[in-house]
Amino acid sequence: MNLDAYKILAEPFYQPVGDEIAVFEAAFAERLPVMLKGPTGCGKTRFIEHMAWRLKKPLVTVAAHEDMTASDLAGRYLLEPDGTVWHDGPLTIAVRHGAICYLDEIVEARQDTTVVIHPLTDTRRILPLEKHNEIVPAHADFQLTISYNPGYQSAVKDLKESTKQRFLAIDFGYPPPAVEAAIVAREAGTDVDLAGTLVAIAERSRNLQGHGLDEGASTRMLIHAGRLVRAGLPLEAAVRSSIVLPITDNHDIREALSAAIEACI
Ligand code: ADP
Repeated sequence: MNLDAYKILAEPFYQPVGDEIAVFEAAFAERLPVMLKGPTGCGKTRFIEHMAWRLKKPLVTVAAHEDMTASDLAGRYLLEPDGTVWHDGPLTIAVRHGAICYLDEIVEARQDTTVVIHPLTDTRRILPLEKHNEIVPAHADFQLTISYNPGYQSAVKDLKESTKQRFLAIDFGYPPPAVEAAIVAREAGTDVDLAGTLVAIAERSRNLQGHGLDEGASTRMLIHAGRLVRAGLPLEAAVRSSIVLPITDNHDIREALSAAIEACI
């Protein structure tokens, strides 16, 4: 099978914040599984895209969801005119042909789905396909990376300890303000001053985390705000549409957030 469609040809811009590139390169050299930990919209997906490009490996991305079954990852028989035909799922494609497989928000998947990855994450490096009566040994280039948002953690929705302990972890927090402003300026195409204001706004919202907000404004939200300003919207309206309204449905929290933001504008 040709994995060209999964190759990333142009360099995805990624601004390193710490030693994450070196850590991932070492993990990849040893084909160890990696967990990217951090809040939503803080660069985890961009990072893995950048690393796949850097390492010149195809990247198979799967967004986990609560209805995801093991078959969605591993594969299934489908009825075709000539009978039933086996189709490898995205995980199997990566395992068989040697790609980096990125399971985004793995915690969303049911726990019985998660255990499919266990034999891939220890020295066995195999993927048993029960329904296909096959054991697929991982290609030498196969590597597994998952993302995990500790903020969403709850007793019912958390990775099993036996899953967690199989992974190396890299922490993704919000970058230091100057770095985050540079990212926002570049991604949204705004000047650094405006990006700096947006980062100050984000910091206000992050202070409300745990006081009515589950999570503060992400870098992604700031980029959206910057793009709206670039498209001609006044800053206040841009921030309202891209940050205040999406982040909470609660009227009082919106008011509190708007008041905190006003001080920055
Ligand atoms: P998630 O952590 O949810 O996977 P993403 O990787 O999609 O988040 O990040 C959201 C957006 O924020 C990206 O599309 C990118 O524009 C920007 N971004 C965040 N951090 C960085 C970074 N360190 N370097 C470059 N872009 C970044």
